[in-house]
Amino acid sequence: MPSSPPSSWVKRSLSSVWHPCTQMKQHEQVPPLCVVKGEGAWLTDDQGLVFMDCISSWWTNLFGHANPRINSAIKNQLDRIEHVMLAGLTHPPVIELSEKLSSLTGHQLGHAFYASDGASAVEIALKMSHHFWRIAGKTQKRRFVCLKGSYHGETLGALSVTDVPLFREAYGELLSKPYIVMSPDARQAKDGESAQDVALRAVKELEHLFHNEAHQISAFIIEPLVQCAGQMAMHSHLYLKRARALCDQYQVHLICDEIAVGCGRTGTFFASEQAGVWPDFLTLSKGISGGYLPLSLSLTTDTIYQAFYADTMAQGFLHSHSYTGNPLACTAANACLSIFEEDKVLLNNQSRSQQLNTAFAWAKEDTRIENFRQTGMILAFDLAHKVAKDHPFFARDMFQQCLNQKLLIRPIGHTVYVMPPYILEAEQMEFMGQGVAQALHQTLSSSKSSTAP
Ligand SMILES: *Cc1c(COP(=O)(O)O)cnc(C)c1O
Repeated sequence: MPSSPPSSWVKRSLSSVWHPCTQMKQHEQVPPLCVVKGEGAWLTDDQGLVFMDCISSWWTNLFGHANPRINSAIKNQLDRIEHVMLAGLTHPPVIELSEKLSSLTGHQLGHAFYASDGASAVEIALKMSHHFWRIAGKTQKRRFVCLKGSYHGETLGALSVTDVPLFREAYGELLSKPYIVMSPDARQAKDGESAQDVALRAVKELEHLFHNEAHQISAFIIEPLVQCAGQMAMHSHLYLKRARALCDQYQVHLICDEIAVGCGRTGTFFASEQAGVWPDFLTLSKGISGGYLPLSLSLTTDTIYQAFYADTMAQGFLHSHSYTGNPLACTAANACLSIFEEDKVLLNNQSRSQQLNTAFAWAKEDTRIENFRQTGMILAFDLAHKVAKDHPFFARDMFQQCLNQKLLIRPIGHTVYVMPPYILEAEQMEFMGQGVAQALHQTLSSSKSSTAP
């Protein structure tokens, strides 16, 4: 596939920057783009190419790039205090953020523990859960349960509860072994089965595991409603509802990893709300700072918090990161939460997700596509099985063809998805939908002849 020769910035990047989750050799074929500017949903590279960020920069950007309100909040904070450690000290931005998040959970999850990246928030939830049981004298409860196809981050603890075969193959020796249970992924419906039927089948398997092993299980971790990195696999909220009940019955903590699905992505602020339940731990990152600064956190209940409240240091929660609760990042998060309120974002996203659906209406009819699905502001579809086998380099070629349409899209295998910022007008949605249709057409008519990289 022809792409323009790399610019001097890109050449310099390739000799010094090792890009995340990338086979660097593939950049010989498809060099990275050097972004020099962003405004709203649009990015500009050093060659002047302008393209739409249809995936919110790895699902982080909620209100567009260079958002004037978030920019000005950060600039203001910058002149007060840029960073200060959070052990022994505190500051207004982290206090305000913690209070707002508590209130968004109806004060059910009233204690916020901070870190900088999503994987660390997951580590915190896993460690806290195990430590809680230790304090309770149940030291044998140290194993975790995750779903098939789960993704919870890539540090060793988070990777332990991540079921991506490629990662487990390379690093499996370093990881503790989780119990992996059936995903409620609605695509597994057999003839006549509904999404709820699949969820109930998955619940049965979870119950069976708890029945036999709960005495050594610390927590069950799940990404509610959509397993995002797991090819945007969507499931019925019934699963989470039943899982909560089973966790209560068998004394297993429930961790909802809302790093991708939180912050309004699925229609409610927290995805868990759709099942009408609260977990024991809820992790947030990505969208919480609007895609501005690294920030993550794990919310938890008063029950968990009180168990650690004691006279000895050993019974405290022993975990810290240098940039824990960074004031600038918390300020960005506070600015985002204000936008949610002032602009009635959740309400307006109802019509936005309808417009998104309309923009991709063509995909429902297309016989080269299967499993068209949508939850709130996430829309995805898979290349039909019979088509996929002829297009081994689909993800790479589709990425390139989308760029030709001025769209930033990164398919996961044979799954194409969009997860745009919450600022697109109906026209821009149409532009995206039509561009993806065009790119798909180009990819499927040309990539058969494309050779291995
Ligand atoms: C991205 C992601 C993580 C990891 O977050 P990082 O900031 O990349 O470490 C964990 N869980 C889910 C569901 C994610 O989407």
